[in-house]
Amino acid sequence: MKYYSLNNPNIKVSFKEAAITGIAQDKGLYFPESIPQLDTDFIANIENYSDNEIAYRAIAPFIGDEIPEEKLRQIVEETLSFPFPLVVVEKDIFALELFHGPTMAFKDVGARFMSRCLNYFTKDDADKKITILVATSGDTGGAVASGFLGVEGIDVVILYPSGKVSDVQEKQLTTLGQNITALEVQGSFDDCQDMVKKAFLDDALKDVRLTSANSINIARWLPQMFYYFFAYKALKAKGKPLAVAVPSGNFGNICAGMMAHKIGLPIGHFIAATNANDTVPRYMDTQQYTPQQTIETLSNAMDVSNPSNFVRILELFRNEFGALNSGLSTYSFTDEQTIATLKKLYNENGYLADPHGAVGYLGLKKYLSENPDFTGVFLETAHPVKFADSITSNLNIEITIPEQIITVMNGEKKTIAVDSYEGLKEFLSNRQ
Ligand SMILES: *Cc1c(COP(=O)(O)O)cnc(C)c1O
Repeated sequence: MKYYSLNNPNIKVSFKEAAITGIAQDKGLYFPESIPQLDTDFIANIENYSDNEIAYRAIAPFIGDEIPEEKLRQIVEETLSFPFPLVVVEKDIFALELFHGPTMAFKDVGARFMSRCLNYFTKDDADKKITILVATSGDTGGAVASGFLGVEGIDVVILYPSGKVSDVQEKQLTTLGQNITALEVQGSFDDCQDMVKKAFLDDALKDVRLTSANSINIARWLPQMFYYFFAYKALKAKGKPLAVAVPSGNFGNICAGMMAHKIGLPIGHFIAATNANDTVPRYMDTQQYTPQQTIETLSNAMDVSNPSNFVRILELFRNEFGALNSGLSTYSFTDEQTIATLKKLYNENGYLADPHGAVGYLGLKKYLSENPDFTGVFLETAHPVKFADSITSNLNIEITIPEQIITVMNGEKKTIAVDSYEGLKEFLSNRQ
């Protein structure tokens, strides 16, 4: 499979090159040059296949012969080394829990898949080390650090805004050591993001072989299709079309779901639920794309006002607004609504959600109130313990801390302070 730049369809690269470089030279996101079609018998009998087999069949056409079948099956198996339970929340409404991986956020799947692909592609040129450079507002850093820990030939450098990530998130970034380095920036997430962008454009750093590991990278983006297959497999017997609600920030996850649909997975409807950062819901109302200043909310992993992956969604629908509008509904919710929903879910349904999952649930309920003939699923994207402050203060309960988190909280924080782009550049140039 070849991938073209969304800025210029004439720039085409292999899966390998797209995964290693992250973004095209003209700064366009990569997009597959054709949409594979899955075998209809396979979809009709999906309940007879294991999760590993389903995931392998979904991703294989996007990679072609660039990774041998046996190796790709191994990568898929190692990626999916934890469960994805579907939990009944109320009649016809289910939470697909994506947070049972090592860092307890759904980004584990993409990070684990991407790290193994890069390791496969670079293992034979060990003298050409790759450096993953990533800015994080919280969950990306932890998932990438854990996914790439100990992977030979790859260094990971994470920039995070000092004092602006949760305690758990900070420990997940700063305690692992080995090939992972955390740079603590006195500034905001946007400052970190700006420094990363500058480094990618800096000719003086050409020899450092920098790449990104956010959902712009196809090797992190595409494996997120798996969740939608698992939801469909588990709920197929209900016999009703599926409406899937996705708490959305950079729109990588929902865009992967829509790609799963395009290759043949019969999902009935998609719902993107956002917090106050409502650029896409406003676009769907007005067809005007006007990002505004980012607003800080309780669901901070979705505090994104200019979602990178939205251009991919437009491309999936060939920029036909009518088609997009009939397959996707979008809604935005306030922190007050999110808190009320956390309380309602806990007290009335006995379900402990996190603020991101609560936003997803709100979107699902809103859609189902006008379209009742669906089975509803919302994606629970993080374990509530990652946002313990908002849970404890609003629900008056203590959360049992899972084993993965206890271990990480006992680790020793190690960071390097960086306060300007020059500091970052010096660090990147002077490493051995
Ligand atoms: C990253 C993240 C999201 C948003 O996912 P996108 O793919 O960026 O839309 C939602 N919830 C949690 C917990 C996250 O970490």
